[in-house]
Amino acid sequence: MMRRCFMPMLLYSDSDCLYSIKNLSLGPKICDFFTGVYPQFAAGLTVSRVCVLVVQSGSPSSRRKPPAEVKIQIAGDRTNTEMAFAVSDELLGTFVPVAVYWLYSGLYIVLDAMGIDDDYRLHPKGEEATKNVVSKWTVVKGVLVQQAFQIAVSLLVFTIIGDESGIVRKQPPALLIAVQFIIAMFVIDTWQYFMHRYMHINQFLYKHVHSKHHALVVPYTFGALYNHPLEGLILDTIGGALAFVVAGMTPKTAIFFFSFATIKAVDDHCGLWLPGNILHVFSNNSAYHDIHHQLYGNKYNFSQPFFVMWDRILGTYMPYTLENRKGGGYEVRPIKLDLLAEQSKTD
Ligand SMILES: [Zn+2]
Ligand SMILES: [Zn+2]
Repeated sequence: MMRRCFMPMLLYSDSDCLYSIKNLSLGPKICDFFTGVYPQFAAGLTVSRVCVLVVQSGSPSSRRKPPAEVKIQIAGDRTNTEMAFAVSDELLGTFVPVAVYWLYSGLYIVLDAMGIDDDYRLHPKGEEATKNVVSKWTVVKGVLVQQAFQIAVSLLVFTIIGDESGIVRKQPPALLIAVQFIIAMFVIDTWQYFMHRYMHINQFLYKHVHSKHHALVVPYTFGALYNHPLEGLILDTIGGALAFVVAGMTPKTAIFFFSFATIKAVDDHCGLWLPGNILHVFSNNSAYHDIHHQLYGNKYNFSQPFFVMWDRILGTYMPYTLENRKGGGYEVRPIKLDLLAEQSKTD
C-alpha cells in the first residue's frame, strides 16, 4: 500500500531539498528512483509543501531492485493524507497582500481611535465626511468586491498556466532579490503611470472607471484599493504580473514584494504625515499622492506607487510645501500651480 507523507516545507531550508515533486507517494518505485539518481548521499525531496529526507547507507544494488538498506526518514511523520495541508507560494502571494492590506489599515484605525494622529493630519478632522462622496462602509464593501475579483482572476490564471511539476524554485541570493525588487518597482511604476494617466485623459474611462477612486478627495488607508474592478485588473493585477515576470522573481519573493507594494499603496492614502515614517524616503508618499486626490491635482502626480520619475520626465510633477495648519496638523500646498495652469492654457 502506498503511503503519502506530508510535512510543512518550513521545517527545511530550500538547500535541504534537492528534489521537488508533487504528490509523492512513498513506495518502492519512488524509493528506487531516488536512490538510483542519488545513490551516494541523502536527497531531500519536497512534495509541494512537503519535505521528505531520504537517507541511504551503503551502496545501491540496482535501479530495478531497490536496495534493502535504503532508509527513509520522514521528519514529523504524518501519514494521514486527510490531515495534510499544503499552501503554495502562488496562493500565499494572492492572499497575504489582502491580509496585509486590512492589517496595515487597521494600525491606522487604531491610531485614529486613540486620537494619536490628530497633530499629523493632512486634512482637518471630519473633512472626510464633508468632501468625500461615498461613505466608509461603501468603501469597505467596494474594496472587498475588488479584492475578491482580483483573487478570482489570480486563481483562474494559476489554474490555466499553473506549474504542475511542483518544482520549488530556489531563492536567489539576497542581493539578486533586492535587484528584482527594484526592477519590479520600476515596471509597476511605468505601467501604472501610463495607464493611470490615460484613465484621466480618456473621458469615458475616467467617468465610468477611474472616477470611483477619486470619490475620495480626502484619502484614508483602506480607501487605497477603492477602485473599479476593471482598474484593479489593469493597474494592479496586470501591472503586478508584468513586474513579476520581468523581474524574474520567485513566487516566494512575490509574496513579500506584493505585500510591500500593498503597504506602500495603503500608506500613500493614509492622509497623515507621521514623523519617522520610513516610507517617506520615497518622494512619492502620502503628501505627494494627496495632491493628486485634490480637485486641482487631477492633472498632476500620476506616478504611483513608488517613484516620481515619470511625473518629472513628462511634466506632470507638482511640487509642494508642507505647512502647519491653523488648528493642528499639516496642509499640503502645491507650488507653481498658477504657473503650470498658465502653461497648460497656452499649450
Ligand atoms: Zn487618478
Ligand atoms: Zn489614490
